[in-house]
Amino acid sequence: MSHDQSAMNELHWLIDMVQTIEVGLVVLDEQYRIKLWNGFMENHSGVSPNAIKDKELFEQFPDLPVSWLKQKMESVLMLKNRAFISWEQRPYVFKFKNYRPITGRADFMYQNVTLLPLASLTGKITHISLIIYDVTDIAINKLQLKAANEQLQHLSRTDGLTQLPNRRHWQECMEREFDRFARYSDIASLVMLDIDNFKQINDSHGHQAGDKVIQHIAHLLNQSLRETDCAGRYGGEEFAIVLSRTDAHGAHHFTERLRQNIADARVLYKGKQIKVTVSLGISTLGPGIDSSSNWLSNADTALYQAKQNGRNCTVAHEAEDKRTEAAATEPRT
Ligand code: GH3
Ligand code: MG
Ligand code: MG
Repeated sequence: MSHDQSAMNELHWLIDMVQTIEVGLVVLDEQYRIKLWNGFMENHSGVSPNAIKDKELFEQFPDLPVSWLKQKMESVLMLKNRAFISWEQRPYVFKFKNYRPITGRADFMYQNVTLLPLASLTGKITHISLIIYDVTDIAINKLQLKAANEQLQHLSRTDGLTQLPNRRHWQECMEREFDRFARYSDIASLVMLDIDNFKQINDSHGHQAGDKVIQHIAHLLNQSLRETDCAGRYGGEEFAIVLSRTDAHGAHHFTERLRQNIADARVLYKGKQIKVTVSLGISTLGPGIDSSSNWLSNADTALYQAKQNGRNCTVAHEAEDKRTEAAATEPRT
């Protein structure tokens, strides 16, 4: 075989491979006219190379992100650098249907795309090639993993009965609030809430009725919160609330309104109306509080005092400081 013949053979093989490879190959000139369109592109777009040759890409595919893609391609031509478009940045460039049976969940093909400058024999960059990879399997796996992780994270942070943050998650939120106070003197109040004589409710109406009461209180509590507040289920029938940017006066206003709401409401269970009250303890951040656990235990002490005072009432922990009260920036309304 002559040298020419073997070179011809190699070229022939290459063309065959370009046609059948499971990767999209497109060559465009500087006017975005299509010069090469391989089998992959034909199979997925339904347009044959003959039908599309020398046509302007954006006229053929009006759905393409024109200005974004042109900008990318211009920079490839100008800087003579390759560029990469990841499915995470943009799920696809060409909207192709996804036919893969195992990834039936995707409607379209996720793509990674490489843009490559092509030099002519004289070394001038006159064309650009698009290499399109089908990454649907990888993308679906990654998205499913991400969704599963988010679901797990939600579950690990949420109390199943009330859907409020659980103790651990609430504690994190409380510690963040304390850090804001330590750093920026952002004032905040912490409230501990405990259902009164809850054992009696369980005893006379049953544990399920008790659960319903807990859910009901969680609901009323949730309704009374602002966006920046954070309430959690601290334990069995105890709730803890961080009221951000709230001084002692504002916190007292909050707890009294909530307490009254709860006392006025009735929980319906199997045709019976259950009355329930709560006791609340408040601790507002101030110079006397040097740690988050200190903050929490002060609220606990106040709650204990509220129980001592006969329940269905609020007690604010002493050691109030007038300066911190004046520092509250956003009075509660
Ligand atoms: P006090 O007014 O002093 O708070 O009296 P109490 O009866 O509420 O206080 P105590 O802490 O002694 O009782 C709380 C009870 O709550 C004990 C426990 O059986 C019950 N409990 C804890 N978690 C749950 C729960 O998830 N569901 C139900 N139904 N009961 C619970
Ligand atoms: Mg209790
Ligand atoms: Mg109780």
